[in-house]
Amino acid sequence: TFFQCAIGLTWLLVFMLVVPEWRDLLISVFLIGLMFGIFQLSARQFLMLAAFAFTGFASLSAYNVVVGNPYMDTANLLFRVAVVGFLLVWCAYFANHVSELRTRLNNRNDSLQELLSEVTMLAERDHLTQAYNRRSIIDSLGRLRDTALRYGNGFSIVILDIDFFKQVNDKFGHLTGDEILAAVADRMRSELRMLDELTPLEQSRILGRYGGEEFIIILPHTDLDGAEQCAERIRHSTASHRFHKDMAISLSAGVATYGGQESIDSLLRRADEALYMAKENGRNCVYAIEIDRSELAGSSEVVNLADYQQEQ
Ligand code: GH3
Ligand code: MG
Ligand code: MG
Repeated sequence: TFFQCAIGLTWLLVFMLVVPEWRDLLISVFLIGLMFGIFQLSARQFLMLAAFAFTGFASLSAYNVVVGNPYMDTANLLFRVAVVGFLLVWCAYFANHVSELRTRLNNRNDSLQELLSEVTMLAERDHLTQAYNRRSIIDSLGRLRDTALRYGNGFSIVILDIDFFKQVNDKFGHLTGDEILAAVADRMRSELRMLDELTPLEQSRILGRYGGEEFIIILPHTDLDGAEQCAERIRHSTASHRFHKDMAISLSAGVATYGGQESIDSLLRRADEALYMAKENGRNCVYAIEIDRSELAGSSEVVNLADYQQEQ
């Protein structure tokens, strides 16, 4: 805008020089050229432009005084310089006002954006663990399901439940229980950040709090094996860590992969069943239920990661 205005003003000065009888007409066009700058330029840029316009017009008039102008005497020329000077000062004042309004509007926009992201965060996350809440996780699963149906991108889920958490609460109180829940979520998050195959955005968005002491992890473009490995890594990392004054915490996990022609409810149910089996089979372990593709709604094959790894 600055250079466009400057070029426009230069052309007008050239016209005024070449066609002196049009000068009065061109003064109004001069101001229109500056109007474009008022809404776009900073106060400083506008001042520079106004100074350029005034210097140009004054120099032109001085030149006319020296060489003589057949259409205007010196007094008239000086009067026009004064009028243009006054109009430019007024324009600069107005431009400054507009620029201040624009800055205020931008600042308000920024703070609204900040508020909006804060509100979005509050609406999507669980306050205690900072994990995504159940509703936003279910929304994400719905979107992944749509993508899977359209493009065939597979994904898996892991539901993790803290073992014997009620005893932790009974023994140490609810507040300590809360602290441990938040610490377990932190631990999961740091393990998830190490998943190289996911983008940083995916890594930060996949942990949700599914229920009281239950968490869910969504693993985009990950098959059952990959999801089991990931669950196993989190289980192991949690079990080997000591929470709140040397307390051992273990997790049981159920893993399932989206089958392609099923609802999210059915996927969650399968992961829940796998979790139930992990609980039934001694806790502190990972179970997966593989969907039976030949009869999607029918029987499912149960895979225990420990057995699977032994076989390997
Ligand atoms: P398991 O899962 O191994 O079968 O045993 P559990 O004791 O963990 O299972 P249960 O479902 O019986 O108990 C879950 C406990 O989690 C009960 C509840 O007091 C506790 N809990 C749920 N939400 C919170 C929470 O936000 N804060 C705290 N401190 N405790 C919670
Ligand atoms: Mg539990
Ligand atoms: Mg539970």
